[in-house]
Amino acid sequence: MLKNDFLVVGTGLFGATVACLLSRNGKQCLVIDKRSHIGGNVYTESMNGIDVHKYGAHIFHTSNKQVWDFVNSFVEFNRYTNSPVANYKGKLYNLPFNMNTFYQMWGVTTPEQAATKIEEQRKEAGITHPRNLEEQAISLIGKDIYYTLIKEYTEKQWGRKATELPAFIIRRLPVRYTFDNNYFNDKYQGIPVDGYTKLVEKLLAGIEVKLNTDYFEDKDYFDSVADRIIYTGEIDRYFDYCFGHLEYRTVRFETEVLEGVSNFQGNAVVNYTDAETPYTRIIEHKHFGFGNQSDTVISKEFSKEWKPGDEPYYPVNDERNSLLYAKYKALADAQERVVFGGRLAEYKYYDMHQVVENALYLVDSLLK
Ligand code: FAD
Repeated sequence: MLKNDFLVVGTGLFGATVACLLSRNGKQCLVIDKRSHIGGNVYTESMNGIDVHKYGAHIFHTSNKQVWDFVNSFVEFNRYTNSPVANYKGKLYNLPFNMNTFYQMWGVTTPEQAATKIEEQRKEAGITHPRNLEEQAISLIGKDIYYTLIKEYTEKQWGRKATELPAFIIRRLPVRYTFDNNYFNDKYQGIPVDGYTKLVEKLLAGIEVKLNTDYFEDKDYFDSVADRIIYTGEIDRYFDYCFGHLEYRTVRFETEVLEGVSNFQGNAVVNYTDAETPYTRIIEHKHFGFGNQSDTVISKEFSKEWKPGDEPYYPVNDERNSLLYAKYKALADAQERVVFGGRLAEYKYYDMHQVVENALYLVDSLLK
């Protein structure tokens, strides 16, 4: 008995957007998720009246008007602009690298002085063919910024020496010769006023959703309840890891409620770029929503080597994993009833606007 047109495995932003659009077009959908909540990694939970980004800070940014209008048609977004601050051994620097950073680093006050300083350092390094991430970064930005803001932070993130990391990880470094701390260059940016969970709730309104339900616990049954399947889980899991595990970097969050502290760090995101601090950054969630609660909630992020069973966050797109993924993808392409989409099924780091865009395209093609 095929009750549904589509089974959507995963209530993340990709699965929820696909389900929403299919159902708008008259398709009957069943959506399942193995977690106890909807939203996948964009899930936010209210703690002491503050929306806490449970799986890491999420800032929506895009230059695609169709995507922006689409998400804004469900919920209101605020005007949050991501302007992280870096703390290196107690001294603060603005990010991304801009005139404020150059002033803090060298005391230079004009774009010309800053550009001259960077050029001097790049020339002094004399690197023409960078062999690793360290050489690549120094050849792009010079040694002062590299040693203060990039080296130790990157080594914490990857758990490896910058000289052992491939140069391609840093293809370019955004450098701005204006006093502009806005991290993103996109036209639109913001955070849902009532949190991302509300956005996903609205996307899934009127659609049957089963939580705490792992597709693989009863795959035969779930395959029988729909004509077609949109699978947004891990691609290697789908094929029972037949070629081995794809690798990820993962993050451990230590979240604390600080009662009676109304403002802990004055900014949503502070990166700790020194090696001594064990975490990479502290998120103070209330600043994403300009909150004026009397308490605050902070999350320290610890970057961690991934092992099977850990939360898969960042795909490791090195040669081994890229080859492995290509093998899984060939199997996926041969599946007639199943479409693989989203960050886990495509083993690709996607920002939120990209999964929404992909979902819009996918549904267009499914309805043709
Ligand atoms: P997911 O959100 O992972 O959803 C997949 C869902 O499938 C999950 O809910 C999972 O439980 C479910 N599932 C998996 N397997 C099964 C199964 N067998 N049975 C049932 N259910 C299953 N993007 C931005 O645009 N801005 C940011 O600032 C930003 N910050 C980020 C910070 C971090 C730490 C990370 C890791 C990502 C960040 N992103 C950001 C990216 C963003 O999280 C993704 O674009 C988005 O979550 C992808 O949605 P998805 O639906 O593809 O995947």
